[in-house]
Amino acid sequence: MPKIGITALVPPELIFACGGQPYDVNNVIPASKKYSKNKLCAWTAIWQEMLVKREFGIDSLIVVAGGDCHNALVDGQKAAMSGIPTHFFFYPFDGDHKYMESQLYSLCSFLGDIKYPEKFRQIKELKKAGQLIDKKRINGKISSAETFRILISFSDLWGDPDKFKRAIATVQENDIEINNRIALIGVPPIYHDFHDIAQSLDLQIVFDELPYEFVRHTGTGISEVARDYCDYTFARPLDFRIEFLQKELEKRKVDGVIHYTQFACHHMLEDEILRNRLDYPMLTIQGDLPGKTPEQIKLRLEAFREVLERS
Ligand code: SF4
Repeated sequence: MPKIGITALVPPELIFACGGQPYDVNNVIPASKKYSKNKLCAWTAIWQEMLVKREFGIDSLIVVAGGDCHNALVDGQKAAMSGIPTHFFFYPFDGDHKYMESQLYSLCSFLGDIKYPEKFRQIKELKKAGQLIDKKRINGKISSAETFRILISFSDLWGDPDKFKRAIATVQENDIEINNRIALIGVPPIYHDFHDIAQSLDLQIVFDELPYEFVRHTGTGISEVARDYCDYTFARPLDFRIEFLQKELEKRKVDGVIHYTQFACHHMLEDEILRNRLDYPMLTIQGDLPGKTPEQIKLRLEAFREVLERS
């Protein structure tokens, strides 16, 4: 089965249906000890170097060149120039599902066309199970660290839906006291222990913005996938994303918002608008290199909890 690297959200159901094995090149970064010399954002810089050095063992690459990450467009081209067969994938900024559909057909041709249409339904069922895990987390039945680990993996389902299904079935339920309901918005933290640290400081993350996008979009064929994924909030105008966030945050009864930003990421520029439009106490933090959550950020999380407790 060809191993297909992806640099951001690319419908995994389509890759599986075409007989490929998706592999999200971001998922190794938080635990990685690699530090790129020539970098803006550490996420793209590290995967770009690893791709060029052939450290992922992938057969081809799909770069999301229009949508959620502008750095990926350049770092993706560097990987392509090193000789990896590469396809550039674009989301519609205006949500035009016909454009989305044309992108999916073009991706299909790159992957060799649909061979296993039943995969669409299989992944849809798994995403329902992922949404259930998210719901249980909101109600304090599953830890935020465990929920994050599962939801973030929906970008590629570990390249093996059956194995992933078995892993989902073993997720442990607990009774977790929720005192400070936190929405974590922005790109996911580059720190592998962030959710555990937040929990240890009595901040319970009840919403992970980007991973929730991974689990809420699906479809049983190209047309349905196109209609659904064209609402991927990170690829749409900010107004669209904020409207979605407002509803989601209200539904989850959050007390405060942590906006995670990444050094040299263009999403940082959205902070001011998000602060103005989301009516919640908000802490903005910025990460750079992968590893453990730095002490300085822990102190800021602690101070934020005190603010929430006073309000
Ligand atoms: S943090 Fe920003 S620049 Fe870096 S990979 Fe994510 S979206 Fe792209």
